[in-house]
Amino acid sequence: MEAPVSAIMICEHCDAVHRWRRLERGQRARCVRCGAVLYRCPWLDADSMFALALAALMTFAIANAWPIVALGLNGQHHAAALWQAVLDIGRDGQHVVAVLVAMMLLVFPLLQLLLLTWVLGFVRACRPPPGFAPIMRLLAAISPWSMVEVFMVGTLVAVVKVGSIFDVALRPGIWGFAALTILLAMVASFDLRRIWMLWQERCR
Ligand SMILES: [Zn+2]
Repeated sequence: MEAPVSAIMICEHCDAVHRWRRLERGQRARCVRCGAVLYRCPWLDADSMFALALAALMTFAIANAWPIVALGLNGQHHAAALWQAVLDIGRDGQHVVAVLVAMMLLVFPLLQLLLLTWVLGFVRACRPPPGFAPIMRLLAAISPWSMVEVFMVGTLVAVVKVGSIFDVALRPGIWGFAALTILLAMVASFDLRRIWMLWQERCR
């Protein structure tokens, strides 16, 4: 009987066609012709990936609910959450910078986590996620533009630099973003092809 199209794996390097087979966790399938790795069975299963994405989503909400740092000068203090800082940048007339910061630090990370949670939630339930193909394409497109880790490094450098001028006090939001940076790095390590493999493994 002819194998379904989704059970066929084509080597990216030599175009050899292989039949998809279930692997044990941590195993790799190699091309019989050129030896290239065709696919791996991930260490994380769908439940673990879903839990990580959900934890990152909750941490995103916590990080944005609190101010990041408080700056004090001559007895006056000003503290702002990231979204408030973005609005301040916009009010100062730097609209392009405000839009870029909002997209890279708020919109893209939130969209990435929402879409991953959506897809993995359906994979866990062994149901085809509505809009699966467009969502996976969108995830691949926006993932490189989520730059929370760049923001963390920039914020820490800025805190050290302005420490000699202002009274700088770290607020809970900075710890939220530190945790979010770690969780997003783990989420970014998800191979999108693995999510498709996990769905095949669980639901076939
Ligand atoms: Zn090959």
